[in-house]
Amino acid sequence: MYVPFYCVPAEQAHCQDWEIVMFVSPSCPGTCFHCWSSETFFGLPVLLSWHERFWSLASNKAKLGEIRLSGGEPFLCRDLGEIIGIIRKNLISIVPVKIFTAGYRLVSLKTGNAGIEETVCNIRASGVVREKVEIHLSADEHHAGSLYRTNMGIKKRSVKPRHAGEMNLLGIPMLQTQTINFLRACEILSNEVQGFEGKLKIHAEMNRLEYHRREIFPWLTEDAWNAAVISSEGLIKAGGARNMPSSVEISPSSRHSIMIIPGAEIATAPNSKKSQAYLNPSGNKMIYANPCTNKENSNGFVIAGWWNMINRVFCGGTAQEALELVS
Ligand code: SF4
Repeated sequence: MYVPFYCVPAEQAHCQDWEIVMFVSPSCPGTCFHCWSSETFFGLPVLLSWHERFWSLASNKAKLGEIRLSGGEPFLCRDLGEIIGIIRKNLISIVPVKIFTAGYRLVSLKTGNAGIEETVCNIRASGVVREKVEIHLSADEHHAGSLYRTNMGIKKRSVKPRHAGEMNLLGIPMLQTQTINFLRACEILSNEVQGFEGKLKIHAEMNRLEYHRREIFPWLTEDAWNAAVISSEGLIKAGGARNMPSSVEISPSSRHSIMIIPGAEIATAPNSKKSQAYLNPSGNKMIYANPCTNKENSNGFVIAGWWNMINRVFCGGTAQEALELVS
């Protein structure tokens, strides 16, 4: 049916420092203009016992350098703290865990101390405040537009860049409040648990990073900007950015990522409207990511290289087969 990880380049196959990106929550209430996740089938939520089984098999994998928990919105996964506990219990070394979030239901939009205190409580209650855990909060202008829409009860994303731009502007005061609360809350929590951190992730359109620094984050000192912000420019041709002249083609990068969808399974035919087709380069036929039928024992659906996920190329296998790459 397929040859596992058929098209992983030789130099990557020998990589000693893989990162696992696990999609722990398929859904997200956001409507970001540039979102590629919303075009990707991330399976069904699985039970905590799935993670128990997977991470126990990963226990002696020496080539695992980093674990990223993503979605959708990972904080919608009620088991997020427990999953990190399972990872810590099973991996001998403390592999860094990064959580990528837009902050929905996590970061308060109240101003002043009330917003900071509420955010501290929410993050603490999620169970993720641990050593070598970082939360990365998306903080670009398109997330501002999504914040605005979510708070106004608008469920549809903007499809025209100009319309999206207008909503982005309306959302900037909310994004500023959100990021102030988040950074201050993480500072308080990192004083309680050393090695826990919160960062802002600004993935800007081409030539728009300077705008973010000047117009959205003038309140951050240069030192705070350098310490807390991870930035990049250039949206990929996906989501609403597909037809933007400034967006860039997705191409293979040097990052060695294994993208794991726990609640999906490999199949040769679709079994649901949600099923998503990937080209199988080893057989030149289609492979499907189908919704899993067993939330405890699903084999998972894995793609190596996020460019393959976006281009829908099946350079993949099951979750267990993926562990061979990091052995
Ligand atoms: S926060 Fe925005 S970019 Fe992230 S998954 Fe949700 S809609 Fe997509």
